[in-house]
Amino acid sequence: MSVILGQEQVGARSVEQTLRNIGPVVLLGPPGAGKGTQSKRITQHYRIPQVSTGDLLREHVKQGTPLGVQVRDLIARGELVSDHLVCDIVAWRLRETDAQRGFILDGFPRTAKQAVWLDSFLKFEFGDTGKWAAWLPIVVCIKVDYNKLLLRITGRRTCPTCGRIYNVHSQPPLVDEICDVDGSKLVTRDDDREEVIRERLDAYERQTKPVAEHYGRLGRVVEVNGDLPVDEVTASLIEAIDQGAHGAAGSS
Ligand code: AMP
Repeated sequence: MSVILGQEQVGARSVEQTLRNIGPVVLLGPPGAGKGTQSKRITQHYRIPQVSTGDLLREHVKQGTPLGVQVRDLIARGELVSDHLVCDIVAWRLRETDAQRGFILDGFPRTAKQAVWLDSFLKFEFGDTGKWAAWLPIVVCIKVDYNKLLLRITGRRTCPTCGRIYNVHSQPPLVDEICDVDGSKLVTRDDDREEVIRERLDAYERQTKPVAEHYGRLGRVVEVNGDLPVDEVTASLIEAIDQGAHGAAGSS
């Protein structure tokens, strides 16, 4: 009886922990660092949405919206979409009701301008609500060795139906090039092709470093070793977010 009661108490505590307000989280890391995989895991843990600008933009391309037509070629070439277009879709997404306890930003901000825009947007939209311990984001930076990154990106395959991500080197499907879940033929994203990868890694170095430096100066960056096994990376991220969610920086 006491054991069952104990489990219920632990269970109740962890649900409360999971469903508390987390606030904004930014996941930084070069293409192939595992941001997509880790965002999905963190999302499930805290039950807050993942907001991936890459996914939002690809959805526009898939639907053939005017924005999608405008950005299709840029994305295929691995170049960055203009700041104002990306900031607009982020603003629209973060105002949705499911983002009010917090959200994981994946792939945004990618430039110093986007970071400055995000800070003022968060302060303006959420600064006075008192919902979160801090309106400045917790910025978690996943660090991965360059050669491992190349291997990860060239091996990445995605299921076009359910979105599950595989890697032919480290997380292969049971049957070659076929999704374990729904049997769809796996695809390589256009921008994961070798000739595009170098441009994406260069763009990351050139433009995203200032984002880490910006939040570093504000004392909001935590670095996580992305070379570790997936579960260990998730555990480190959760620890970093738990600590950051209690921080008071950016609350004024
Ligand atoms: P991702 O899936 O995050 O690697 O993004 C795929 C592509 O979408 C990038 O190579 C860019 O062309 C575009 N993109 C995604 N997020 C941004 C952003 N924050 N700023 C500019 N372009 C972006």
